Amino acid sequence: MINRTLAIFLFLILCVQAITAQRNCATLDHWEYVVKKHSSTAQSRALIERHTQLYTQNPELRNENNIVIPVVINVVYQHANENISDEQILEQIRVLNEDFGRLNPDADGAWPQAANTDLQFQLANRAPDGTPTTGIRRRYTSYSNFSTYDDVKFAKSGGIDAWPTEHYLNIWVCNLEGDIMGYGQLPGGPAATDGVVIDFQFFGRYGHTQAPFDRGRTATHEVGHWLNLFHIWGDGDCTIDDMVADTPDSDEANHGCPKDAYSCGGKLMVQNFMDYTDDACMNLFTQGQARRMQALFATGGFRSGFLRSPGLMELAQMPDVNTCNDGRQNGDETGVDCGGSCEPCASKISCPAPASINQSNSTTKVTLRWEAVSASGYLAEIRQLKPNLSKWASVVTNSTSASVSGIRIGRTYEWRVRAICQEGDTSDVTGSVFITRNNGRILYDDQPAVYPNPSRGTFYFNPGSAEAPDGPLLFDAGGGDSKTIHSTTSFLLVKNIQGQLVKTHPLNETAQAGFQVDVPGLVAGMYFVHWIDAEGQPLSQAYKLILY
Ligand SMILES: [Zn+2]
Repeated sequence: MINRTLAIFLFLILCVQAITAQRNCATLDHWEYVVKKHSSTAQSRALIERHTQLYTQNPELRNENNIVIPVVINVVYQHANENISDEQILEQIRVLNEDFGRLNPDADGAWPQAANTDLQFQLANRAPDGTPTTGIRRRYTSYSNFSTYDDVKFAKSGGIDAWPTEHYLNIWVCNLEGDIMGYGQLPGGPAATDGVVIDFQFFGRYGHTQAPFDRGRTATHEVGHWLNLFHIWGDGDCTIDDMVADTPDSDEANHGCPKDAYSCGGKLMVQNFMDYTDDACMNLFTQGQARRMQALFATGGFRSGFLRSPGLMELAQMPDVNTCNDGRQNGDETGVDCGGSCEPCASKISCPAPASINQSNSTTKVTLRWEAVSASGYLAEIRQLKPNLSKWASVVTNSTSASVSGIRIGRTYEWRVRAICQEGDTSDVTGSVFITRNNGRILYDDQPAVYPNPSRGTFYFNPGSAEAPDGPLLFDAGGGDSKTIHSTTSFLLVKNIQGQLVKTHPLNETAQAGFQVDVPGLVAGMYFVHWIDAEGQPLSQAYKLILY
């Protein structure tokens, strides 16, 4: 009887273990909370999804380069075992690089669409202020555990404030309440909470981690969410997709490792990192998932700011003199570079800023002028003011003026100028002047938007003549340094009369006026040229083009 009781007892323990030892990711719950709290999130998600579709459907837009993502680990602990070791953290980074690089020792040939994502991870070696860092921050907390509602992401609620999330992947490691193993914030949520949270028991590989989630795949899965991946079953039945074409349809999460499971008319990909299977079962992302993640880092992508992150600058790359344009905060700067009054760095600049700037308008252009200072040249910059500020575009000149044409009715632009010092650094900026025209649309060119028309093999696109709300500016500094400047990167799509896409042509942000578009080998006939922005929104009407 004792033996039988013991057997039942052991059986019950096994059952309880089987129930509790299931992957439990709180990304969806967290996301519902984010969407309720921040109404703009749905709009951001729609834009990101449109951009992702544009990228994944147009092979020409693909960036084949390896992207290295700077990571900061924020360890928040109350007990010693929660204060995980540096080695445990380094081991987790190794796992991420193996899994995202398809270098994991358990990679097999079960699914031919398995992919190297070309995404890699490295602990940051520079803090946002430019100082050296290990990429690991630690804080003792009086909180015994944390919810899935972002409390660990703020110092005021016992956690650690994020480093700028447009430049660093923030990963918080803490004691999460209940049996939650982690959660990731999808791209498009609020910046302050962007990142990934992992329970300390599942962070790293082996060591103190808890089987069957002891191979670091919880972080692989949650970083997958941060990189815009959904669960492989789409969190719904067979008809709900994960927005990835090469993952089989599935109707629910799989647990353990049911390698021969079938559902929705096919074999399930239980080895995918975005399923709920055990760590030892998972071993792949697909090519479709890789493309989806890479889209975030392409032009116009939500995480493209990582390409300008200061987080992985080598010592040799760091400027040894603090300046107002060194890409890091220094002196008393509080926000972005030179967000403060910048006395400490301004004193080290070797030439003065131009003394005054002003402008004059004619019917065809606006001329910007400034007073000469002792300098080897000048850098004039202009941008359009709109809800998402366009990037500064610049020209270099030896003269003390530059002209801008293509200014549009009702649009406001900001311009400023710096001196280029003899030593090669640049002065502080001289103020800002705003250009607003309320009437008198100015074109810099009377060429039609698409010419010649009809054409054969090659045509030209002149965005200055397109009826576009965000059209380009021509920035002329004299001496041949003239540029067509787009407020956003854009694309030309050429479609045939059936509406099929036959050509995608990216328009670089800076180019001479009149873009050459080669369309060799197309059947003679009528085509339509569409000018769209990086989110796929039309920038102008469509133009008819006859090819012969
Ligand atoms: Zn998940």
